[in-house]
Amino acid sequence: MNTYKCTKCNIEKTLDSFYKRKDRPLGIKSECKECTKSSINSRNRLPESKRKLKQYNHEYYVANCTSKIQASKEYYAENREAILARQKIASKAYYQAHRAEVYARGAKRRALKLKQTPPDADMQKIAEFYKESERLTNETGMAHHVDHIMPLSKGGLHHQDNLQVLTATENLKKGAKLPIIL
Ligand SMILES: [Zn+2]
Repeated sequence: MNTYKCTKCNIEKTLDSFYKRKDRPLGIKSECKECTKSSINSRNRLPESKRKLKQYNHEYYVANCTSKIQASKEYYAENREAILARQKIASKAYYQAHRAEVYARGAKRRALKLKQTPPDADMQKIAEFYKESERLTNETGMAHHVDHIMPLSKGGLHHQDNLQVLTATENLKKGAKLPIIL
């Protein structure tokens, strides 16, 4: 007997129309290959309702993403004080939880600065960069940092000629990357 009746579609098929299954008496699956495939496909297909929801969410997102950005900007403008206060609390908490690491990073940086401060560095001029950065931060409400144009970690000097004031965003974007040489 070289045929077997599929338990799903009830069609009598040759044995090679069934996947092999060693644990079955006949050594084949009771469902034919075609039925197995179609049940796998229907299992992987998202149900119509879910597919529609997904499509709807996507369309909604596309239609509203610019207004969402606008809304979050407005939210920021209206709640700036509260947001900044929250950030301050969060960064204080971070500092308290990571005190040793923060201190170690600061110490490493101070050591680099010290090591890479050449004899002709003018401490007063250097201090002016930090004052300027503070002034801009207070005036614009946007954090400013003093940046080492050639990063300290890349051997740059702690010297007035290697300093610039950047917004924190620009500075963090730059990180320890080398300056673009014009
Ligand atoms: Zn079948």
